Amino acid sequence: SATRKVAVVTGSNKGIGFAIVKELCAKFDGDVFVTSRDEGRGKAAVEELKKLGFQPNFHQLDIDDESSVLKFKDYLKSEYGGLDVLVNNAAIAFKNDAPEPFSEQATLTMRTNFFNTLRFCNIIFPLLKPHARVVNVSSSVGHLRKIPGDDDVSVALRKKLSSSDLTVEELVKMIEDFVKAAQTGNHQKLGWPNSAYSTSKIGISALTRIQQKAFDHDSREDIVVNSVHPGYVDTDMTSHKGPLTIEQGAVAPSWLALLPSNIEEPKGGYVWYEKQIVDW
Ligand code: NDP
Repeated sequence: SATRKVAVVTGSNKGIGFAIVKELCAKFDGDVFVTSRDEGRGKAAVEELKKLGFQPNFHQLDIDDESSVLKFKDYLKSEYGGLDVLVNNAAIAFKNDAPEPFSEQATLTMRTNFFNTLRFCNIIFPLLKPHARVVNVSSSVGHLRKIPGDDDVSVALRKKLSSSDLTVEELVKMIEDFVKAAQTGNHQKLGWPNSAYSTSKIGISALTRIQQKAFDHDSREDIVVNSVHPGYVDTDMTSHKGPLTIEQGAVAPSWLALLPSNIEEPKGGYVWYEKQIVDW
């Protein structure tokens, strides 16, 4: 019905996204959607959750496919008249030993993790209802001040990225410049880390701050967005090297998805898996 609340997790057929859906099924007062780019994998995940006694919904969603995003938007609009909780979890990461050249890794990683996540937000945000909660899954490597060793972001880029005046247009241009430079291996000369994945997550953390500023001036009351490092988690992405279970990885994202109305913080924040709000 039009008054029923609804929560959506992108890329939730497996990994941390799957565990976030499980947690929301237990705690969120409304419908919770498993979404997957592959219908078969998505429906298998739904069956697994049903066996545990949960009642998740399913919808196909590939954030790399604009028509898929638009279909999902129309569906949410007609079935629910809006959206209450959105967790932007879907992302890709090339393995350290991936054969693809860095130029290609940079293009594809930025496309999904940054540009298409941004496009998804731009298409879906008009549906957000007052008091909506948005969670952007970032990473420890999306932390501006604590990127270890040689992969440090230059002082000049840090200054721009952490400026409270940074606009989406400026951020997009910076990430586009990274991708261009990566085609010829010049990205480090611009001050970026030698990792497409890190750069994509830095972009997501920076984007989160800008999105909150926009929400603060939105006519819809009390919309909150935060970015989160879920911890180092045992998933396909980490080749199962992370020590945390997916349930542990889902703790902070789910907490942020369920933040009560009219909280003071975190808002536009960068949050670590043990729920600490960290100076980005
Ligand atoms: P997984 O690789 O296990 O899961 C990623 C999910 O995203 C899959 O469901 C995948 O679908 C989906 N996905 C990828 N591309 C798209 C797309 N274009 N459209 C829709 N869905 C897509 O990763 P994790 O669970 O480990 O990661 C979840 C999030 O947490 C990511 O944002 C990741 O960067 C972040 N993170 C993870 C950490 C960890 O230690 N695991 C640490 C820090 C951050 P499919 O099955 O079809 O491939």
